Amino acid sequence: MWTIGGRTRLVGVMGWPVAHSLSPAMHNAAFAALGLDWAYVPLAVPPDRVGEAVRGLAALGFAGANVTVPHKEKVIPFLNHLTPAAQAIGAVNTIVVSPDGELTGDNTDAAGFLADLREEGIEPNGRRPLILGAGGAARAVAYALGQAGAEPVAIAARDLTKARRLADALHAATGKAFLTGRLPEDLSELAREADLIVNATPVGMAPHQADASPWPEALAMRPEWVIYDLVYVPTETRLLRQARAHGARGIGGLGMLVHQGAAAFRLWTGVDPPIAVMRRACEERLRSRE
Ligand code: NAP
Repeated sequence: MWTIGGRTRLVGVMGWPVAHSLSPAMHNAAFAALGLDWAYVPLAVPPDRVGEAVRGLAALGFAGANVTVPHKEKVIPFLNHLTPAAQAIGAVNTIVVSPDGELTGDNTDAAGFLADLREEGIEPNGRRPLILGAGGAARAVAYALGQAGAEPVAIAARDLTKARRLADALHAATGKAFLTGRLPEDLSELAREADLIVNATPVGMAPHQADASPWPEALAMRPEWVIYDLVYVPTETRLLRQARAHGARGIGGLGMLVHQGAAAFRLWTGVDPPIAVMRRACEERLRSRE
């Protein structure tokens, strides 16, 4: 039987709160499946101690860490390097610690979203996406889609200033075209040209908003659309039910979660992760909570 020992490599996830995270179950299942002497732990880091925690990773001999809400931006000043993706997105979800203790921040949400989209058989190049929300996940998705050849990328947020700020920053970083609008007033206009709708707001997420949708009931969806909901709890959101009712294709956020984790796993271990094992571990953890 495997036990944690003196040679066990450590990784973890920093968040506040972090107890609900599926990442420990997902990564530990992958380590076990490959027989790797690694362990992944939840790291509950209060907002005023982010700097201490990030610097402590190298001191404690961690190989790296994931970073989740609300620390994805706050960790940046404490890192030595950022990848071009993390730099352009302005948020870090994965830290890699080099053997000499240097900390590099990356963002695998972007790559994870694209990997899942492609696994679902959807090529982003040439798509015209409409992203709902202008927070951290929206930034990663908008960057990923722009880099993958989708143009223009439209961003709709309830605060138009935030949508414009995001569009300007990504345009400056990537040279791609971005459109903006207010949520929900401008949805109908922006949706006219779109063929891939991405919900990057928490609307629809359990437990507080489980019966809500960011898409107004009165607004039709076209059957040729793909509706991608980043929310993965519950797996069948109201938005996905709306998509089905209009004959459109709906995809939930669990695949992105698995693929962003798989990309982080690869960065830390240099080994190809067992994606199916990781997905199953997440599904089992979600089922055990129902
Ligand atoms: P965030 O940084 O807090 O951003 C949330 C965005 O949603 C903001 O633009 C916010 O607007 C907007 N919003 C919140 N409530 C809203 C409402 N009632 N109506 C309209 N807009 C609303 O959060 P995040 O990190 O981007 O995460 C967003 C969602 O994506 C979460 O559900 C998260 O679990 C999910 N996510 C999934 C994955 C995955 O792997 N599947 C990865 C990352 C995130 P304001 O700025 O005006 O508040």
